[in-house]
Amino acid sequence: MPLEILGKMYEKANKEYYAIGQFNFSNLEFLQSALDAAEEMKSPVIVALSTGAIKYGGIKNLVALTSTMADQISAPVALHLDHGATLDDVKMCVDAGFTSVMIDGSHHSLEENIKLTRQAVDYAHANGGITVEAELGRLGGIEDDVNVDERDARLTDPEEAVRFLEESGCDALAVAVGTSHGAYKFKGENAIDFDRIKIIKEKLGIPLVLHGASSVDPESVAQINEYGGKIEGAKGLDAESYKKAIERGINKVNIDTDLRLRWTATMRKLMVEKPGEFDPRKYLGPARDAVKELIKQKMKLLGSAGMA
Ligand SMILES: [Zn+2]
Repeated sequence: MPLEILGKMYEKANKEYYAIGQFNFSNLEFLQSALDAAEEMKSPVIVALSTGAIKYGGIKNLVALTSTMADQISAPVALHLDHGATLDDVKMCVDAGFTSVMIDGSHHSLEENIKLTRQAVDYAHANGGITVEAELGRLGGIEDDVNVDERDARLTDPEEAVRFLEESGCDALAVAVGTSHGAYKFKGENAIDFDRIKIIKEKLGIPLVLHGASSVDPESVAQINEYGGKIEGAKGLDAESYKKAIERGINKVNIDTDLRLRWTATMRKLMVEKPGEFDPRKYLGPARDAVKELIKQKMKLLGSAGMA
């Protein structure tokens, strides 16, 4: 089917308390992994491009590829801009055929964030009713040397979120509740503020988004290190944390690091075990399959499997 407006996919997820996975990509194989997984799991799926990925693959190429592939399956697919920084980023993606965009003004002042988000919303809504995700709070991650007050100041404030929603008109909100981007999410134990998710959800009622939510699969990390890689001290979310966050109102979970780790682990092993191999399909193919299996597991975990 044609690319779906993300807002439409959110309606059911928001009502029935499950989350849709956002899987980042920048090449053909990752896209195949995500769409094949969605079709097999009968799950809605969000595939996302960062501005870096757009630069890598070319916006026209990537949009054409995504919509052509989405046309051939029955599971709904949304194409989303991850972390748009400027109004120009948003306009470029809306004009190119994305069905959802994120405008990330979280590093600006509250006033500036509201203003930037409002402009993005006005443009996206007027041009095809495209869904807009905003971010409030800072996803810096939690360091051991940050005290509780400092930590609190970085997390999304529920009262501020009410004002932000009223004035910006965003459709979905990425909340800072203790997760962080990358492979090194926590120095200590998982420290997600689950109550905060619940409070914000009750006040806002809109879909909430969890960024930096890879589990940083220890098996992938071990395999990478076994075959010559060097990734130390990486740590992410456990299955229980996903469940608790989704029960409290998270409707979109962004997963990027896990896919990269699984891909790299598969490639490293093959490169070592088959030193004579030089047909790219012989190592890209298995990496693609491994990422697809991982995405299928995530869809089950998020509750989106069977919802298409
Ligand atoms: Zn993010």
